[in-house]
Amino acid sequence: MNTRAYATENKLSNRWLVQLGGVSLGVATALLTGALNYFEYQTAEDQYSDHLTDLSLSITAHAQQSLYSANVALEGIYSELIERRFSSEEDFKAYVTRPSEFSSLNQKINSNPLIDVATVVAKDGRVLNFTRSYPPPPINLGDRDYFAWHKNRIGSQTFYSQPVKNRGTDKWVFYLTKRLDDRNGEFLGLVLIGMSVDSFSSFYKALFSHLGSSARIALYRDDSLVMTSWPLQDKIISKVDSKMVNQLSMSSVGGMPKTFITVDADLNETSDSQIKRMSAIGYVDGYPFFTSVSIGSDIFLQNYRRFLTYSLFAASAGLCILVFFIRQFLKKDRLILNEFREIKLLQEELLSAKEVVDTQNQDLERRVQQRTVEIAEKHKSLVWSHSQLERANRFKSEFLANMSHELRTPLNAIIGFSELLHRRTFGPLNDKQHEYVGDIHASGKHLLTLINDVLDLAKIESGQIALDSSTFELLDFVQTTLILTRQRAERGGLKIQFSVEGEGRCVADKTKLRQVLLNLLTNAIKYTLPGGVISLNVFVRSDEIQFEVIDTGIGIAEDQLVEIFDDFRQVDNILNRTTEGTGLGLAISKRLIEIHGGTLKVESQPGVGSRFYFSLPQQNG
Ligand code: ADP
Repeated sequence: MNTRAYATENKLSNRWLVQLGGVSLGVATALLTGALNYFEYQTAEDQYSDHLTDLSLSITAHAQQSLYSANVALEGIYSELIERRFSSEEDFKAYVTRPSEFSSLNQKINSNPLIDVATVVAKDGRVLNFTRSYPPPPINLGDRDYFAWHKNRIGSQTFYSQPVKNRGTDKWVFYLTKRLDDRNGEFLGLVLIGMSVDSFSSFYKALFSHLGSSARIALYRDDSLVMTSWPLQDKIISKVDSKMVNQLSMSSVGGMPKTFITVDADLNETSDSQIKRMSAIGYVDGYPFFTSVSIGSDIFLQNYRRFLTYSLFAASAGLCILVFFIRQFLKKDRLILNEFREIKLLQEELLSAKEVVDTQNQDLERRVQQRTVEIAEKHKSLVWSHSQLERANRFKSEFLANMSHELRTPLNAIIGFSELLHRRTFGPLNDKQHEYVGDIHASGKHLLTLINDVLDLAKIESGQIALDSSTFELLDFVQTTLILTRQRAERGGLKIQFSVEGEGRCVADKTKLRQVLLNLLTNAIKYTLPGGVISLNVFVRSDEIQFEVIDTGIGIAEDQLVEIFDDFRQVDNILNRTTEGTGLGLAISKRLIEIHGGTLKVESQPGVGSRFYFSLPQQNG
C-alpha cells in the first residue's frame, strides 16, 4: 500500500515537471514568436522606409523640375515685358493686349503640360491677355492673394499663390506670379503662370497608384498650404494642413527625406477611422515647397502582416496543442489525485479494520485463557472422576471375584450331590424326585456357567487376565475344537464343516482362542434351525490368521448388530427364548480377541445367516 502511494506521489511530481516543461515551452515559443515578429516588423519598416525615401526623392525632383520649367516660362514673359521699359500704363496695356502677345504667351507655355495658363493682369486686376482665349473675357483678379501680396511689395520676387478654382473651367490652379513695374518703378500689373493642380495629381496617380488606396502624395507650400495632392480632394486643396505643421518637426529640415510613422484619420473615408501611415517629407530645393508622400500600413506592413498571419496561425496551433496537452496532463493528474485519495481512504479503512481485529484478538486471547483455565479444571475433575471410577470398577471386580469363589464352592457341592442323586447312587427315587433333582443339577450348572462368565468378564475388565501364548498346529487345534461341538450340532440336526487354508501354525493363547471359537460355534448351532450348515474356516496369511464362523441361521437385524457385543445383551428372537444363554458370550469373546490385537466383527442378514470373523496378527519369522 505504501509502495503504491509512493509510486503515485512520484508520478504526480513527474507530471508537474512535465507541465512546467510544457508551460516553459509555451512561454519560450511565445517569446520567440514575439521576437521574430518584432524583427520582422522592423525589417518591414526599414524596407519601406527606403522605398518611401526613394519615392519622396522622385516627387520632390518632379516638383522641382515642374516649378523650374514654370519659372522659366514666367521669367521669359516677365523679362520680355520688363525689357520693354514701359513708360506708362497705356503703353503697357497697348502692348500686352495685342494678338501677337496672345501667340507669344501661348508659345512660351505650350511645351509644358503642367502649365494651365499664362496671364497678364492690369494693376486693377483686369485680365489683359491670357492663353486661353483672345480677346480675354472680362475677368477681374483683383481679389486674389497674389494681387494683395505684390501690390505693396516692390521687387522681382516670385510669389506662389494658393490654389484657386478657375471660374471658367472649375479646375484647381495655383499661380507663380511676378510684379511688373514701368520704367519709373510704378506698379503696372502682374504676370501669372497658372499650374494645373490636376496635372500634378494625374502624374502622381500614374506613378503611384500601386501604393494602395491609403497612399497620399501632396505638394505643400512652405506654410503647409496644400497645393496639390493625390487623391485629389476639394476639401483639402488650398487649405493649411494643420497636421503637417506638426509633422514637419518630425522630419529633417533640408537634406535627405526622413520617414516617420503617424496614426491619423483616414482622409479617404467619411468615417473618422484611424489609420497608421509611414510618411516621408522632402524639401523642393530652391523653392518654398515641400512634398509629402505617405503610405498606409496595409502596404508597408504587407509582408509583415502575411508573416504575422502565418506566425499567428502557427502560434495558435501551437497554443491549441499546448492547451490540449496541459489539459490531458491536468486530467491525468486529477485521476492520479483521485487514486491517491482512494488509496489514502483505503489505508485509513484498513487501519481502523486492523484496530478492530486487534481488539477482537485481545478479547479472543482473554477468552482462550479463561477457557484453558476452565478446561484444566474440568480435566482435573475428570481425572479425579476417572480414578474414582477405576477404583470403583476394581472394587466391583474384586468383589465379583471373591463372591464367585464363595459361590462356586457351595454350587459345586449342589451340582455334584444333585448329579449323584440323579444317578440314583444312594438308592431309588420316584419319578418326581428324579425330575426335580435333574432340574437342580441343570440350574446349578447354568448358574456355574453364569458365574464363570461373570468372573471372566470381571477379570478382563480389571486387567487381571494375562495371555499365555504358545505356538500350536492349527489343523489339530481346529479339529479338537470341533469335536467338542459336533455332538451338539448333530443333536440339532445340523451339518458342521471346516477348512484351513495355508500352512498352519499359530501363536496365541490356545485356551482363550478355543473359548472364543466354542462360543461362536455354540451360538451358530443355537441360532440355526435343523438342516442348516455351520462352517469354521481359517485363512493363514503372511502376517495374520483369519478365523470365520458362518451359519445359515436366523440372522440378526441390522439395528441389533452393534448391540450384541454389549454385556448381558440378548436379542429377542424365536430361538433364544428356548435356548439357554447368559448374554455375556460375545462380550467376553470380543474382549479376548482384542487382548490378542484383533477385532471381532459380524455380518448378518435375517433369514439368511451370519458370519462372525476376526484376525489374529502373527509375528513374521
Ligand atoms: P447368549 O448366551 O444369549 O448366546 P451371546 O453374547 O453369546 O449371549 O449372544 C448375544 C445374542 O446375540 C444372543 O442372544 C443372540 O440373540 C445373538 N446371536 C449370537 N450369535 C448368533 C448367531 N450365530 N445367529 C443369530 N443370533 C446370534
